[in-house]
Amino acid sequence: MSKNLTQTLLIISPHPDDLEIGMGGTVASEVALANKVVSVVLTDGRRSQRSFDCSDEEMAEIRNREVKAAANLLGIKDLYCLALPNLYSPKNQETLFQELSDLLIKYQPDRVYLPHPKLDRHPSHSLGAELVLAVIVKLIKGEKLTPLRLWAYEVWGLFPSWDLLVDISQFVEQKREAINAHQSQVTDIAYADGVLGLNRWRAVFSDPHHLPKNAYAEVFISLDSYLSSWAKKTPTSRKRSE
Ligand SMILES: [Zn+2]
Repeated sequence: MSKNLTQTLLIISPHPDDLEIGMGGTVASEVALANKVVSVVLTDGRRSQRSFDCSDEEMAEIRNREVKAAANLLGIKDLYCLALPNLYSPKNQETLFQELSDLLIKYQPDRVYLPHPKLDRHPSHSLGAELVLAVIVKLIKGEKLTPLRLWAYEVWGLFPSWDLLVDISQFVEQKREAINAHQSQVTDIAYADGVLGLNRWRAVFSDPHHLPKNAYAEVFISLDSYLSSWAKKTPTSRKRSE
């Protein structure tokens, strides 16, 4: 039984547009169910490729405006941009640890979503996922975070199988608009067409097939084993098994 009638989802995006591309339809459906969605964007996206002239600082400002517009379109009220220039420097990783810990402790989410640490081939996505998992394990170990479910969403790397398929058919246009709110990104790459094609494929080739003919779907892999593999190593559970 959840602590409230509504559930709290905390979603990690390494860059400002990852939530929209990977799970924009699911987010719109959760908002429609009156669940609380907390979006945490790790970097300011200043390093993204571009075909137009602008400095890294200008790009960071543009992307900050875009992520706010996209959040509005999806009905996200709790948006936190950590605005790190990258995830590689120890100083930035320390900031991520601090700020993300504070947010997790404050919201005590029922579910956390992030890119897959192994299957997502974008280096900032896999590194971001590893850092976030380390924060969560540390907080649970210190009993600062109540048990939660962990889910990976799909962006830069196709999932060979999945644990959960969400029908997003009713929210396709909202997802498309939210992705297209990231104008600096979709000018050069047709993200909405690409990912909605995938979402369509996921629905058409879902097995067992139970969705309507025109359905779209997003898929997720459970990362709960990251938490249980840590739990198996705790002294208490070791003692019990001895
Ligand atoms: Zn990204």
